[in-house]
Amino acid sequence: MKQCPVFKKCGGCQYLNLTYEEQLEKKKKELQRLLKGICPIHEVIGMENPWHYRNKVHAVFSHDRKGNPISGVYQENSHIVLPVESCLIEDEKADEIIGTIRGMLKSFKIRTYDEDTGYGLLRHVLVKRGFATGEIMVVLVTASPVFPSRNNFVKALRQKHPEITTVIQNINGRDTSMVLGDREQVLYGKGYIEDVLCGCRFRISARSFYQVNPVQTEVLYSKAMEYAGLTGKETVVDAYCGIGTIGIVASRKAKQVIGVELNPDAVRDAVRNARANKIDNIRFYQGDAGDFLQKMAANGEKADVVFMDPPRSGSTERFMAAAAAMGPKRIVYVSCGPDTLARDLKYLRKKGYRVEKGVGVDLFPWTGHVECVVLMSKVKE
Ligand code: SAH
Repeated sequence: MKQCPVFKKCGGCQYLNLTYEEQLEKKKKELQRLLKGICPIHEVIGMENPWHYRNKVHAVFSHDRKGNPISGVYQENSHIVLPVESCLIEDEKADEIIGTIRGMLKSFKIRTYDEDTGYGLLRHVLVKRGFATGEIMVVLVTASPVFPSRNNFVKALRQKHPEITTVIQNINGRDTSMVLGDREQVLYGKGYIEDVLCGCRFRISARSFYQVNPVQTEVLYSKAMEYAGLTGKETVVDAYCGIGTIGIVASRKAKQVIGVELNPDAVRDAVRNARANKIDNIRFYQGDAGDFLQKMAANGEKADVVFMDPPRSGSTERFMAAAAAMGPKRIVYVSCGPDTLARDLKYLRKKGYRVEKGVGVDLFPWTGHVECVVLMSKVKE
């Protein structure tokens, strides 16, 4: 069994004291409990190598009593920073880069931000790595736009880590628990990274959502595609589409795809992703998925398959009522929150859909989180 010095304090890997097999079993039981009488779950598909899978790593920067810079994670439910050198689930290269940045601060006279006094510059560092491409993005989150000796800092960092492909400064001057602010500036490279999933290339910017475990995301999407049973004739909706991953993968087997997403950065990435993959049967729209589907349904538009992949808080009745009104034969629900999934499936049942099957996919080994995908089909009138 592997050891972690901040086990139980960090709140990340609640299941580190279990074997991987025990953990998958526990997640399966948890899904079965929450979805009892709603959807049978026979399996949670595990990972071959469940370590260091996170391709997005966030470190909060602070200082100890002597003023030495530290970086790590917030202690669970607090704003106390626990120093972390390396983490069993994070990408090892990302942790190395964060360590390098921490080591460079003193010589560049960069102070870490102090949440209590509001003094200091560096608040967080975010590293994203393209699993298939090896491209690496470093985001330096600063409290103010003024970053003395910024160019030299970036140059020195790149000298130590030539594998970094882009560096971004994000400015977050607000008193908030959100990591990223609204303003950003590219300090080096193209300002985004790319990765390959299910044979499609995806652009990932600093602020858009991208699944953190690319290996298992392919497994998840393959299941979602299998459930969707596309033949090439379908009109497909990809709701809560992020940077368009599910819709773009589906577009190869559908007549047309409509994606909807709230985050404007993600929508921009989605549009570019479709173009980069030479896909012309997909359209993306920015907005609330519920509002958007309400409008589509009111216009009498129909869909054959609806994919929905809402955040942990789940979907809304407004969205689901509209989705059902568009009469899709199948709804494929991808969920990272089984309790809201249970609630939403119950609602969709009332709207004329039957739960066919579901499967768990372990996207977050060692943590308590479970992802699953469920197929519903329209009950014939
Ligand atoms: N399907 C994508 C993203 C899933 S994460 C993927 O697999 O990568 C959930 C997404 O829902 C996020 O991108 C988030 O920005 C988006 N979202 C949250 N609330 C929303 C809303 N009300 N309407 C549309 N999208 C929303």
